[in-house]
Amino acid sequence: MDTLESPALMQITPRPASVMARGAGSYLWDEAGRRYLDFIQGWAVNCLGHCPPEISQALSRQSQTLISPSPALHNRPQLELAQRLVALSGLKDVHFANSGAEANEAAVKLARKWGRLHKAGAYKVITTQNAFHGRTLTMMAASGKPGWEQLFTPQPEGFVKVPFGCAASMCAAVDDKTVALMVEPIQGEAGVVMPPAGYLQALRRIADRDNLLLIFDEIQTGMGRTGAVFECQRAGVSPDIMTLGKGLGGGVPLSAVLANARASCFEFGDQGGTYNGNPLMTAVGLAVLDTVAQPEFLRHVRDREAQLSSGLQALAHRHDLPEVRGQGLLYALRLSLPRAEVIRDLAFDAGLLINAARPDVLRFMPSLRVSETEVAQFLDLLEGCLVTGLVD
Ligand SMILES: *Cc1c(COP(=O)(O)O)cnc(C)c1O
Repeated sequence: MDTLESPALMQITPRPASVMARGAGSYLWDEAGRRYLDFIQGWAVNCLGHCPPEISQALSRQSQTLISPSPALHNRPQLELAQRLVALSGLKDVHFANSGAEANEAAVKLARKWGRLHKAGAYKVITTQNAFHGRTLTMMAASGKPGWEQLFTPQPEGFVKVPFGCAASMCAAVDDKTVALMVEPIQGEAGVVMPPAGYLQALRRIADRDNLLLIFDEIQTGMGRTGAVFECQRAGVSPDIMTLGKGLGGGVPLSAVLANARASCFEFGDQGGTYNGNPLMTAVGLAVLDTVAQPEFLRHVRDREAQLSSGLQALAHRHDLPEVRGQGLLYALRLSLPRAEVIRDLAFDAGLLINAARPDVLRFMPSLRVSETEVAQFLDLLEGCLVTGLVD
């Protein structure tokens, strides 16, 4: 198609020469009618799959009632979603935003404000190498993606990086200007990197001992992805500030920053945004949360995890692959060769969407409603691509 040869779009990422036209559950169809089994799902966004009836209905109903009253007025879906999130997380209050990066910016603003009020102007946030916190200028500085430190300089300052998973390095990096520790409970974009047992607990102890705020970026791990509503609950650690995005809107732009009573210190004028908390998006958030928070929904996630995890282990064993790692329905397979992009492209041609998170790491983030048959089909398709892609 000619419009694909020179699309009037800025060059931000190479895209395959297909146009996606329709989605339902675990499948996408392109304009040519080809079907794809989708194990990317909008980048771990579509927790209920493509076009779930809950979201279509919420959008349709809310769009006929109230879309955008102004952020300076209350609306019912925003009030209700805030209440539900506070009850589920045990934190005190919420500010809604439109993207993960924006929620993380709010988290850092909150921490710096708290530092001004309670810690003699401390402002530094310790983050981790290979972390991903978003693509605004400040969140690129907060992220630890290799190569990013040279981009768009000068970058906002105040971020110190330490290796992920090492509490001793975090401890050693604290100085009197440090205000917060910020981590993903599991590093998603880095290729589903799991921390060692006790890491999050150790960060909680450091934060308490040194009077720091603990910030968890649960944008990828939250909303049922790891088999609990929030990964920090599964780990048994409560942060001072938590950010949510991706699965929170299940496919629409909605994110949130939540804080406990200690950390929640915004005053009038500190934070805002035209679309923040608009009823169209928060009504969707409510519909998603009502589904995700049900015990049987989370049980389904853990059942499919058992199938996915043992299937990947068997596959790794048969093809001599070094590592399967993950939690819930966020999984990665490490290859013995840097062939992840080759295998991703073979998979695309075979009608399977997967992500090459690192040159030697494939990442899988299916719908949390993925069926037993679909997981089995995924394992079959993936094995075919590994057989072809891993030969010299
Ligand atoms: C995706 C992601 C972000 C950024 O979210 P955007 O909506 O793309 O701004 C931040 N942190 C984590 C852990 C993510 O996975």
